[in-house]
Amino acid sequence: MSDEADPTDSSKLSQVRVTAAKCVRCGQPVQPRFRPFCGQRCADIDLGKWFTGGYKVATDEGPDQHSGPGGEEDPEKP
Ligand SMILES: [Zn+2]
Repeated sequence: MSDEADPTDSSKLSQVRVTAAKCVRCGQPVQPRFRPFCGQRCADIDLGKWFTGGYKVATDEGPDQHSGPGGEEDPEKP
C-alpha cells in the first residue's frame, strides 16, 4: 500500500506567513527596513505626527517626492 499522495505533504502548510505584520498606517505588507511601516512614506507620516504641535521639520527631500521601495501606489492617497 503505497499511495501516490504523500501524507506528509506539508508544502502548503509550510507556506506560513512569517511576515504577517501590516503597516500601521495603510495596512500594506511591512518592509523589514521600515518596520512597522510599509515604506518611507508611512514612516515619515507617522513620524510627522510626533512633531505636530508647532514644531516644523525642514527636510531636504520630501516624502511625497521620494519614490522609495513600497511607495508606488498608496490606497490611502486620495
Ligand atoms: Zn503604509
